[in-house]
Amino acid sequence: MITFYPGPSKVYPQVAQYLQDAFQEGVLSMNHRSEGFIDILRETLRLMRLKLDIPADYSIYFASSATECWEIVAQSLTARHSAHHYNGAFGKKWFSYAAHIVPQTSGSLFQVEHTLPFDLFELENDQQRADFNRQRLAQEEVLCLAQNETSNGTQIKMNDLATVRAQTGGLVAVDVTSSLGGVALDWALGDVWLASSQKCLGLPAGLGVLVCSPRALQHAQQVGDVWRYNSLLFMHQNFEKYQTHYTPNALGIYLLMRVMQQVDNMDQISTKTKQRAEDWYAFLENETTWKPLVKNAAVRSDTVIAVSGAAVAVETLKKRALMAGITLGNGYGEWKNTTFRIANFPAIDDGEIDLLKAFLRK
Ligand SMILES: *Cc1c(COP(=O)(O)O)cnc(C)c1O
Repeated sequence: MITFYPGPSKVYPQVAQYLQDAFQEGVLSMNHRSEGFIDILRETLRLMRLKLDIPADYSIYFASSATECWEIVAQSLTARHSAHHYNGAFGKKWFSYAAHIVPQTSGSLFQVEHTLPFDLFELENDQQRADFNRQRLAQEEVLCLAQNETSNGTQIKMNDLATVRAQTGGLVAVDVTSSLGGVALDWALGDVWLASSQKCLGLPAGLGVLVCSPRALQHAQQVGDVWRYNSLLFMHQNFEKYQTHYTPNALGIYLLMRVMQQVDNMDQISTKTKQRAEDWYAFLENETTWKPLVKNAAVRSDTVIAVSGAAVAVETLKKRALMAGITLGNGYGEWKNTTFRIANFPAIDDGEIDLLKAFLRK
């Protein structure tokens, strides 16, 4: 079975060997306070900085999932409130979870076809509204954005993130669950970056990744949350010594280390991902009866391609695909029945893409 599901998604084929190695090398029974584990954690963090270009002064932590990282942002970095701008199901879910922890949390929906800066500052040339948004943004404590909205295949491109970042005095927290590992991120544009292992990183589920700027850590000091096992300050204390705040997913960390050893530098991966994405959109428009869900190229995701069609046609296609040994991603949320999704993650190889294209051409 070939899978194009955008999470859990295809793991790098080498993971089969890494799993064997982990067993042979005793990683599965390793004490997480041992030298052996500390070496693995240190090496994993070193390789992540190297391959993903994470700045030296940003700190990296592991949790269990991206969802857990959402809660860490709300608990450890939000004293007053966080502002969520979202256009799809994951951004909305983040807003909803944060609101359960910090009731003053605010959420605003922007349109799928709009860039975020356009929606905030330029819409209808409404100067009053734009000024109001600018004023509000300047005073935010934490701005929460899903950089790659997996549910509908949109993304906030780095130039748009830069525009929004320039307007806010607060921390910028970015969900990159379905883009980390696939496209280059400009780390300086965010204070908190969070992700999970089971999407663009080509690994099994069960590992959350949290990357924080020095500014985020300073803010965590001010907020002073020390009440939970996953309080950021407590996590930081542990990670400084290459320790963890609970018995960690050592296998997940080990697999991440091996995958980081194996992959190209992010520049190369990113160039390839973007080329493949361009090819996907051109292919859909020119060689099939399907249409990309997102029409505005400025907000189309490079890593999750959402394809729209009539509900009946989508259902038939997914069934036929299964019979041909291909798993497509279901639609999600309000696009559940009228879209399917194609993961454009680096673990997927060219041969698989050719197969799917041949199938969709019919
Ligand atoms: C999948 C996904 C999540 C949730 O990841 P978990 O590992 O299940 O917590 C969060 N945000 C985005 C954008 C996602 O695609």
